[in-house]
Amino acid sequence: MTANIIDGKLVSEQIRGKLRGEIERLKESGVTPGLAVVLVGEDPASQVYVRNKARSCEQLGMYSEVHRLPAETSQVDLLALIEKLNEQSEIHGILVQLPLPKHIEEKAVIEAISVDKDVDGFHPENVGRLVVGEECYVPCTPAGVIELLKHADIEIAGKHAVVVGRSNIVGKPVSILLLQEHATVTICHSKTANLQEVIQSADIVVAAVGRPEMIAAKHLKPGAVVIDVGINRLADGRLVGDVDFEDAKQVASYITPVPGGVGPMTITMLLKNTVEAARRA
Ligand code: NDP
Repeated sequence: MTANIIDGKLVSEQIRGKLRGEIERLKESGVTPGLAVVLVGEDPASQVYVRNKARSCEQLGMYSEVHRLPAETSQVDLLALIEKLNEQSEIHGILVQLPLPKHIEEKAVIEAISVDKDVDGFHPENVGRLVVGEECYVPCTPAGVIELLKHADIEIAGKHAVVVGRSNIVGKPVSILLLQEHATVTICHSKTANLQEVIQSADIVVAAVGRPEMIAAKHLKPGAVVIDVGINRLADGRLVGDVDFEDAKQVASYITPVPGGVGPMTITMLLKNTVEAARRA
């Protein structure tokens, strides 16, 4: 068996096409969805992410502003900027690019963003709403994972979904979303005993670990659906996921590539949340 490839770029383009129409309608009614992206420091990967986010906004006719602050920016100054953005009516979504420099408390920054503008969905109030199943901004990468499964017409209800990774930005929220879709969910992490056995029992595997190609064909149940969130840069410059794509695709029924799988969906979901924020405003 060779797996069907779930093309994140294609799904992303389809969703962006729909968003474009919504943005035009909003603009006709006098509202241009606006996103503010804040970057502290010069982390090269973060710079690329921020540039891509701003460019994607422009491509869809949204307003965006990027605030690039030096690495030595104080927490007080960063919080003051967020406060200003919270008040700015042309800004509907605020995203602070993580990770932040060590001297800044991430929690304080996330909590300072207005819940109504928290398009990353990291504010504890949004997280709480997500857990109890209320309307909220869903974190972008986990939302992208679910969209990919739905676009590929993959049945989630009743399936055993194994999520490898329990971070607040990917593993935990994607587990909640899978549960809401009626999967039976197992969450694995670095202390999980018999990881291989657990993964082998999965109908759907979501890998969000950050370890290059740790999941291979021998770990998978034949016909499993594999969603690879991992983005790992190898010493030779290649970008790979947490799954050994070439190997795993021999036994999986569906699989996402890296790059071109979950990655493009993350920004698309951010744009979607920002349009939603503008609509609500
Ligand atoms: P974190 O480092 O925050 O979390 C990694 C998780 O993996 C932790 O829960 C950790 O367990 C678990 N883990 C580590 N080693 C093992 C192991 N050997 N076996 C089982 N579990 C293990 O990472 P993120 O969640 O932020 O990101 C995960 C990956 O996804 C990264 O490659 C990242 O670059 C990528 N990513 C991709 C995005 C996209 O847009 N495609 C967006 C965000 C992230 P423990 O909790 O016990 O330490």
